[in-house]
Amino acid sequence: MSEQMTVKEAMRLMRDYVCSQCWGQIVVTFRHGESTVTCDKCGVITTYVTRKYADRRRQDSVFELWEARDNLKSFIKSIPKEDIF
Ligand SMILES: [Zn+2]
Repeated sequence: MSEQMTVKEAMRLMRDYVCSQCWGQIVVTFRHGESTVTCDKCGVITTYVTRKYADRRRQDSVFELWEARDNLKSFIKSIPKEDIF
């Protein structure tokens, strides 16, 4: 049997954590005394990451995207025009 969380714990979870799959907002619902954690995109979930972690990873991804775009630009410039479809 899974450990039940209190409403207070549920509020904290929703405030501080996000879905580990898509980093989306999680929602805790109580039904017949059982709590269920769901994500809009992923449905019922059992793993989460802290919102701070997701925010940091999201920023890293933006920097990686900029870097990748820059690399891609110089790569495309290096290809002779007739090789580009
Ligand atoms: Zn999700």
